[in-house]
Amino acid sequence: MRAGIDLGGTKIQAVVIDDEGAVKGQERLPTPTKGGPADVAVAMATSVRTAAEQAGVETADLSGVGIGSPGVIDARRGVVSSARNLPSWEGSFKLGAALTEALGARVRIDNDVNVATEAELALGAGRPYRSMLGVFWGTGVGGGIVLRGRPWLGRGAAGEIGHVCVVIDGARCPCGRRGCVEAYAGRKALEERARHRHEKGHKTELFKIMEKRGRDRLTSGVWARALDHDDKLAHKLIDEAVDALGAGVASTLNVLDVEAVILGGGLGLRLGEPYRKRIEEAMMPHLFSSENPPPFLMAELGDLGGAIGAALLIKLPKTAAAS
Ligand SMILES: [Zn+2]
Repeated sequence: MRAGIDLGGTKIQAVVIDDEGAVKGQERLPTPTKGGPADVAVAMATSVRTAAEQAGVETADLSGVGIGSPGVIDARRGVVSSARNLPSWEGSFKLGAALTEALGARVRIDNDVNVATEAELALGAGRPYRSMLGVFWGTGVGGGIVLRGRPWLGRGAAGEIGHVCVVIDGARCPCGRRGCVEAYAGRKALEERARHRHEKGHKTELFKIMEKRGRDRLTSGVWARALDHDDKLAHKLIDEAVDALGAGVASTLNVLDVEAVILGGGLGLRLGEPYRKRIEEAMMPHLFSSENPPPFLMAELGDLGGAIGAALLIKLPKTAAAS
């Protein structure tokens, strides 16, 4: 058995899978909004312990724990830096060492979007394709590229579809630049836009729904509920997000011309098929090869894709994989 953790800005999702990739245990915890990296590491360890208990295995007996993390990853040293969607994680933190100490298992870390893309390629909607673009619409907007059956990492920063510029001198992005896709579509940026307009007097139910649900941020579920209630501001902001995503995906396809686009991420999965279709429609006017668009699919592994992909970072010894 191996464990995987999807470390997101909103939630920490852990799974324990067997050698065939079947999920034997799982736990989801909210990502701490206060404190710092050490507090996040404690929550991550707790989530793995619970998932391992469900699977009937001690954490020290796991073949390993894979982590899909945001930020800049030094996989060899197990260090995560500049994970800006996590609390006080501007600097570097030895996440691998912290979890090895807490769980007694070896740990491997890779980029959250890379592992989610690899999971869809190995076990999900990407199985039929040799090239694809994964679009993960969540707290931020991440992108994963597969070319010739292999992830394309560039020099380490490839696939940043969230920071494709869709409006020159546009809205400020959490990355500090202007006019990025994420400035319009990332859950974090959307929340700031909503708060700003709410303070300026725009009517919206978003924050009431948030409080009613006992949340301290506008989660994907809060957005979905507000859209269901025909909240005007929610619709306006999500319409802008859809347009930005459509333009960003089209621009990326105009360069890469991959065989398929796969949509995942917290917001992407929560809003689901109707919004996948709308992003595809928003993409069309910008797509150069518009007579021949690639299939635009929903991620198949759903909420657990990132965590399963993280677990796949732990390669099993040949004998165990064969049995
Ligand atoms: Zn940006």
